[in-house]
Amino acid sequence: MTRYRDFHRRSIDAPDEFWRAEATRIHWETPFQTVLDRSNPPFTRWFAGGRTNLCHNALDRHLATRAQQNALISVSTETGIERRFTYAELYDEVNRMAAVMRSLGVARGERVLIYLPMIPEAVFTVLACARLGAIHSVVFGGFAAASLAARIDDAKPALIVTADAGARGGKVIDYTPLVDEALARASHQTARVLLIDRQLAPERLNASYLVAYEPLREQYFNAHVPCEWLESNEPSYVLYTSGTTGRPKGVQRDVGGYAVALAASMEYIFQAQAGDTMFTASDIGWVVGHSYIIYAPLIAGLTTVLYEGTPVRPDGGIWWRLVEQYGINVMFTSPTALRVLKKQDPALMKAADLSSLRALFLAGEPLDEPTAAWIQDALGKPVVDNYWQTETGWPIIAIQRGIEALPPKLGSPGVPVYGYNLVVRNEVTGEPCAPGEKGVVTLGYPLPPGCMATVWGDGRRFVDTYWSEMAGAQVYSTFDWGIQDDDGYVSILGRTDDVINVASHRFGTREIEEALSSHAAVAEVAVVGVTDEQKGQVPLAFVVLRDAQAAAAPDDRRKLEAALLATVDRNLGAIGRPARVHFVAMLPKTRSGKLLRRAIAALAEGRDPGDLPTIEDPAALQMLRAALGETG
Ligand code: ATP
Ligand code: MG
Repeated sequence: MTRYRDFHRRSIDAPDEFWRAEATRIHWETPFQTVLDRSNPPFTRWFAGGRTNLCHNALDRHLATRAQQNALISVSTETGIERRFTYAELYDEVNRMAAVMRSLGVARGERVLIYLPMIPEAVFTVLACARLGAIHSVVFGGFAAASLAARIDDAKPALIVTADAGARGGKVIDYTPLVDEALARASHQTARVLLIDRQLAPERLNASYLVAYEPLREQYFNAHVPCEWLESNEPSYVLYTSGTTGRPKGVQRDVGGYAVALAASMEYIFQAQAGDTMFTASDIGWVVGHSYIIYAPLIAGLTTVLYEGTPVRPDGGIWWRLVEQYGINVMFTSPTALRVLKKQDPALMKAADLSSLRALFLAGEPLDEPTAAWIQDALGKPVVDNYWQTETGWPIIAIQRGIEALPPKLGSPGVPVYGYNLVVRNEVTGEPCAPGEKGVVTLGYPLPPGCMATVWGDGRRFVDTYWSEMAGAQVYSTFDWGIQDDDGYVSILGRTDDVINVASHRFGTREIEEALSSHAAVAEVAVVGVTDEQKGQVPLAFVVLRDAQAAAAPDDRRKLEAALLATVDRNLGAIGRPARVHFVAMLPKTRSGKLLRRAIAALAEGRDPGDLPTIEDPAALQMLRAALGETG
């Protein structure tokens, strides 16, 4: 562990020196004067005075050496369309898009709201914003009109870019009626809506503010739009957190720090090099998509694969066939997606030639041990869990394979990443916890480059929400509950809001979920705490089975429930035993794949789950209600 330890220590003891060296990975049009301006803590201004541009670093800079290399391969199993763009072609498309946007009045500092499916134009739009110095705010394509309206009012965009429709699992989702409704609800009056017409939806928005992209693209076909050289700390984008625990927060990102952090992470964490192909199976509406579908792979000179579709259509082997077909070297997705695949025939995975693949990275939710073991076994490749947040923009905890390939430990995403002064602290005293003691995962000031600059339009909220003084130090709370072992490996036990207090014993939801999922019949599980007169709180479990038929009959259900409870007793002790196990076909999740435990707890306590703007499929709530009624 010496190489990792030295590396990490240097990054914490001498951050200025450390990040000055990393900053050479990107192009600076004007050199920075100060590596880190800490004059206004807890705010940081990385590379103050330096001027650069994310689009230049992602595209222009590569033209001399890799113009003919593929930059973007877009695959849709929904439409059956594949489109490839070399760096030279992507550069041209981004210039056209930038020229079109400029003609519609988009300028430096203006916001552009991007409400698009996973199509190449989404990448063009993001990079065109970066080129112009405009601030993008990407909203998951197909998000409900009310959520879209709220984001319109928060970002006050000069332009919205949308498409006629998206497609998911064979279902076409018309976007334009949603945009129409959102605009009607919003108080901010956006000047224009740019429409990418995929010819998917019969119904199309037809209001006066609509502008069709295609004719304008023709008009600006040969356009070259120079990059705006932004000061390192000007905003690049606003992105909302997943909204798992309440009102989403608008995370504002900078320019230079983000570019440097991403470039470094590609080597140290993802062990990827220019010329490699990376497939991040995620969505551009989520931070993983921003960082590891678009910006990082392109900044590092890779080929990035953009995928529209689900992991199980036309069948559960599709992702692995893509690995074979495109020679994918690095893959990144979420545990949620793997739990979906786990219900498929493993032969589908083994049928593809995966020899190009070096590692599979996972982030977003706890990776339960059975799923980790299953995927590791099926793939025969390293599976690297990594833990981070929309706020940080890149991993906080990971095995940093490019520094030292420490042995992974099941159940832990690994060790703190360079740049992050991670301390698990006692929730009450704020003192650092001893190894093996549970507490809140905190990060010291300064946060490394790439992390959120502030909450969009609300610096107070940034300070008040995230920062506090603990044991004399100014610290950032992740709001996650964790434990660090003697070797420095951190396990995430759940969110601090979700900690269950049973007769004065505190459990992270993750601990009980992990115990339950060690049973072979379980595909997915959510544990929530509900109020109990005697014990304060008791855990309730909601389980999705690998084979739904296994609990079809009441008798089977009772037997399986007993077996699952016995598993918890064995792994965790009877004190952590759920009061009930409910079997459901689906659990409520956010679009980014996070369990909405709060909504589940509300339903279980007979309360209204409230507004869930980021829910993936509201039908999951109906199923929960039914399950609670049936067995409750
Ligand atoms: P909100 O902040 O709006 O409630 P959110 O926290 O779900 O939503 P994201 O930023 O998308 O929004 O998710 C970050 C959170 O996801 C982390 O704080 C953590 O709870 C969880 N998470 C991410 N990666 C991992 C991981 N590898 N293991 C365990 N948990 C993870
Ligand atoms: Mg969060």
